[in-house]
Amino acid sequence: MTKTFDGRVVAVDGVTLDIAAGEFFSLLGPSGCGKTTSLRMIAGFERPDSGRIHVGGRDITDVAVHKRDMGMVFQSYALFPHRTVAENVAFGLRMREIAKSEIERRVKAALAQVALTGLETRKPSQLSGGQQQRVALARALVVEPPVLLCDEPLGALDRKLRQQMQFELKELQRRLGVTLVFVTHDQEEALAMSDRIAVMNHGRVEQVGAPTEIYERPRTRFVADFIGEINILEEGGRARALRPEKIRLVADGARVSGTVETANFLGGSTLLRVRSGDGRSFLVRETHAGERASRRPGDVVGLAWSDSDAVLLEG
Ligand code: ATP
Repeated sequence: MTKTFDGRVVAVDGVTLDIAAGEFFSLLGPSGCGKTTSLRMIAGFERPDSGRIHVGGRDITDVAVHKRDMGMVFQSYALFPHRTVAENVAFGLRMREIAKSEIERRVKAALAQVALTGLETRKPSQLSGGQQQRVALARALVVEPPVLLCDEPLGALDRKLRQQMQFELKELQRRLGVTLVFVTHDQEEALAMSDRIAVMNHGRVEQVGAPTEIYERPRTRFVADFIGEINILEEGGRARALRPEKIRLVADGARVSGTVETANFLGGSTLLRVRSGDGRSFLVRETHAGERASRRPGDVVGLAWSDSDAVLLEG
């Protein structure tokens, strides 16, 4: 797919994706990289300038939004404020002229799935942010769409609730076997939830792979840098990516020795910034169970790592 706005902004630049049935697939990238535009083209809100979109072998590029049979949880796709929770969830079924008793049964089941039983008669304004997002999810899922599109559906939540909803959404997706295309700019969220991730940059896909692959074997500098902390080692005109947790602090056999500049305690680990004798800066993650990190600013440390952990980058 390619999509240009106003004849100049190339929002999506020749993206080709193959998403498997039942897959939890994330589009991940920084603000403005074209994630939302890609999702909106799949949904049918935008038409690609070129490229075709197929679902289950059927070309849907020219099919209207409401005939694509996709569930959507978009931030801009707000709940109806004057309708109750149950009415919001029933909406998609009403549009499909389904019998009243059947609608009631399915709304009840959908609300149970997102743990909102008992809140049927509340209005959206009487719910917490997380509950509202779960209503939006139930509203999308109740029609049992084979494909569910989610654009930052957990964006409005605090960290704790967000984590809880990540587990719930993942669990729900697996249980229902729905194909989920998920847009996020949050690396941790994408790593935690996805079967596969497409990392996007400037309208293009830089890498597609399972979370471990993207994290352990980034192909480009952009991917390495965007996902978590990274050290880029420049040697003989080639660049290698080395994760901070792959560096060991050693007394003997150090490749590099340096001085600890900062030590940021992060709970289960401490992130050290070490300045080497030749002026390079290294991030080193020291994991520890319980006790505080042993290193302090000013300490002189030796750093070692395996060749196989320093991943060669393209370009
Ligand atoms: P974010 O995480 O900030 O939502 P995104 O990766 O989803 O970003 P898009 O919303 O797809 O990015 O936008 C991609 C590019 O296209 C941006 O440069 C944006 O300004 C531009 N763009 C998006 N929609 C339009 C539009 N309707 N008209 C003009 N430009 C647009």
